[in-house]
This record gives sequence, structure tokens and C-alpha cells, in this order.
Amino acid sequence: MKLYNSLTRKVEEFVPNEEGKVGMYTCGPTVYHFAHIGNLRSYLMEDVLEKLLRFSGYDVKRVMNITDVGHLSSDADTGEDKMLKGAKRENKTVMEIAKFYTDAFFADCAKLNIKTPDVVEPATNCIDEFIHMIEVLLEKGYAYKAGENIYFDTSKLSNYFVFGDQNEEELMVGVRDDVSEDTNKRNKNDFVLWFTKSKFEDQALKWDSPWGVGYPGWHIECSCISMKHLGEYMDIHCGGVDNIFPHHTNEIAQSEAFTGHKWCNYWFHVHHLNDETGKMSKSKGEFLTVSLLEEKGYDPLAYRFFTLQSHYRKPLVFSYDALDQASATYKKLKNRVLALGEDGPVDEAAVKEWHDRFAEAVGNDVNTAMGLTLVYDVLKAELDGATKRAIIADYDSVLGLKLLEKTEDGDNAGIDPEFAAYIEEMIAKRAAAKKEKDFALADSIRAELLEKGVTLKDTREGTTYTLS
Ligand SMILES: [Zn+2]
Repeated sequence: MKLYNSLTRKVEEFVPNEEGKVGMYTCGPTVYHFAHIGNLRSYLMEDVLEKLLRFSGYDVKRVMNITDVGHLSSDADTGEDKMLKGAKRENKTVMEIAKFYTDAFFADCAKLNIKTPDVVEPATNCIDEFIHMIEVLLEKGYAYKAGENIYFDTSKLSNYFVFGDQNEEELMVGVRDDVSEDTNKRNKNDFVLWFTKSKFEDQALKWDSPWGVGYPGWHIECSCISMKHLGEYMDIHCGGVDNIFPHHTNEIAQSEAFTGHKWCNYWFHVHHLNDETGKMSKSKGEFLTVSLLEEKGYDPLAYRFFTLQSHYRKPLVFSYDALDQASATYKKLKNRVLALGEDGPVDEAAVKEWHDRFAEAVGNDVNTAMGLTLVYDVLKAELDGATKRAIIADYDSVLGLKLLEKTEDGDNAGIDPEFAAYIEEMIAKRAAAKKEKDFALADSIRAELLEKGVTLKDTREGTTYTLS
């Protein structure tokens, strides 16, 4: 399996620390609002990566945090407290807000067929771990106390900007243009590990610490929660590209200062979902949530299909037109799969051969579009229905499109399975005839189907049909 690694900026052969096993960590949501479908694109592609690793035979342990504390929008003692803002907006306590939006997040994930990670840990569960890591960083001289807060000293590192291709200066401006500089810092990239003196007097969640009552900084939770469950050596760390700086840079700084060795080998970053005006955000334009798509009549899995059509390392532009197209293509694909006959014993050798083909193609840096193409190839292949079904079920363990699960509102739903099988058989015969350049036979098959009310349509992905 090959993966692009943000740390080396190359596609590399994936080699885990321990043969056959993968420790994988995902930065979870800050639970102060609904996730928009742009945030969910990252979780979706990370889900595909996890399933692909399992498909390729790895034993995967995946861990995710829930940010229910450490929630400033900048890592200085400035910006807004997102959790508190959510609580005030909805007249609830911070913990009520956290619970509500954690549940909402997992409900959205379920609708998108995103598997819940093996371990989900809220930051508020791990205050002791945070304090321990900060104590060690202070002991080792990587942290200092100033203005009653504890800061990480980035000047102690020989290479702080590990993701060298990021234009950090530019990103810094983006992060800080609405922020006044924290004068306690010795270096401008230093970041807070623990706050005791905060401008947020009404900070809701506070804990006792060796440095006084306060709360943890923004980045410490991911280092601690991942080490708590995956140890000091991790294989893959995931997140959206906007997590790279400063969040992931700071995670690496404090983790490697703490352990004294390299922490995580592969960094997997999913690019933005943009709308037609630019980067999607909670504050501008229509707030695109899974529920909103449902209200508008879309199957959430059509959105999953939409994201799988393009590569995770390219920005993806969302529009309703694009989603309409993806939705129609998804429905047709599903109908074709559901119409497959169940004839023949399953050809296990063929299933294995097609499995390897998928592992190779999609395993080349999570090439999901190629995975979809392979589904169409299976439909066109000269195999029995039962074998095709077995191969597609295997692929769907990665794609997660529920291709073999009957839905009530499919275009050709309710079609007699025997008739559907007959149509598929005729489509396959016609494709074979066209391949042999026997266009007379191909045309007569089309005409024969049309007489029975079946209209064929040739698309780039293969032949689909509608019933009249
Ligand atoms: Zn994180």
C-alpha cells in the first residue's frame, strides 16, 4: 500500500511499526456546533483509509479525541472560546453543549456510514495525562512559565517547521490577523500548554494543577490521548489540511520533546471542500450540514459517493448541480448492483483476483475514483451474478456505499429480480457484441429491450437503464 506522507511530501510505501498492525489517530471535532459537510469530508476519507487498511489485511486500532475543552480559536490567550460561545448561544452548560454536539456528530457519521473509531476519548477525561506531559516538558526544559501560564518553547527545537512545504509565514498571518500578540511568549511560535491566567474569567471548565487552577491549551490533548491508547510510536496521524499548522506542528513539537524520539511516521491530510465562493465555513454562506442535505431530499450516501469521485488530496468544489449528478449516478449504480442475479456458485478465485486488483489500485494513495471504476468493471465482466455480488460486497467494505442494501426509493426499485437479471444479462451480451464489432446484434438487443420498456443509456461508467 502506498500513501502520500505530508512529512516527506512524497508518496511512500506504507510500512507500519509492527508488522500487520496499524495505530491510527484522528483529530476529532470541537463539539460546539454541528459539523458541516466540509469537515465531514475529512472524516469520510479517513474512514475510507481505515477500511482500506483493514481490506489490505491490517489489524487497525484507531483513536479519536473529542475536543470538549482547550477550545480557543487561537493558541494565544485570545480568540473566542468556542465551547462557551456555543453554551451562551443555546443557554446551556458547556457540558450539555459538548454532549449534544458529540451525539450529533456521531449521528451524522452514521448517516454517512463512517465507522466510529475503536477508541473515542473526550479531552476532559485526560486532564491528569495533560498535566503529566506538561510536567515532563518543564523538567526537560522545553516549557516555561510566564504570566502564570505554561508555554512550549519552540526555540529549543532544531526544526520546528517539520511540514516544510507549508508556507508557515503566510499561514501565521491567517491564524493571527485577528489576534493581538501574547506578550508572555519568548518566541512568536511558542504556544500555551496550560492556562491559569486567562482573559476568560468565566471559563466554565477548570482543574487544579501544580501551576494553579486552569485548563489545558489547544494541542496537548492529541499528543496525550494518542499516547494513552497507541503508545509512543504511531503509524498514521490524520486530519484536515487546515490542521497542519499550527496544530499538527505543535503536536509533533511537544510529543517528540516529551518522548525524545520520532513519534508518528505518516501524516495523512485531507484537502478542503470548497463551495463556489471559496472555502466552506460555519460563518459564511449556507451552513451545509447532513441534515440540510436530507431536508433537501438527498441520501447522505450520495454525498459520500460525491466525495469518493475525487482524490482526497485535491480541493473539491461543492455545488448542488454536482451533488445532483453524483446522486443520479449513485442511484443508477446501486440499481444495477441490486439487479444482479444470484445465479451460479461464487467463483472464489475470481473474487480473490478482483480483491487484489482493488487493493492495488485503491491502495495507491487511496484512489477512491479508481475504486468506483472497478465496480463498473465488475458489472461489465463476464462473471455470474453471485460472483459479481460477492466482489462488490468486498469492495463496499471500503467504499461504504451500501450498494447491496435495498432502498425504498431507488429509480428501479420494485423491479422483479428475474426481469432485472434478464436486463443485466442482455446488457452484458450487448457489450460483448459491441466488443466483437457485431453492431447488428448490439442494436437488436437494444431494440428488444426497448420493446419491453427498457431504455438503455451508454455512459462513461457503463450502460445504465430506465424503465418506462
Ligand atoms: Zn489533533
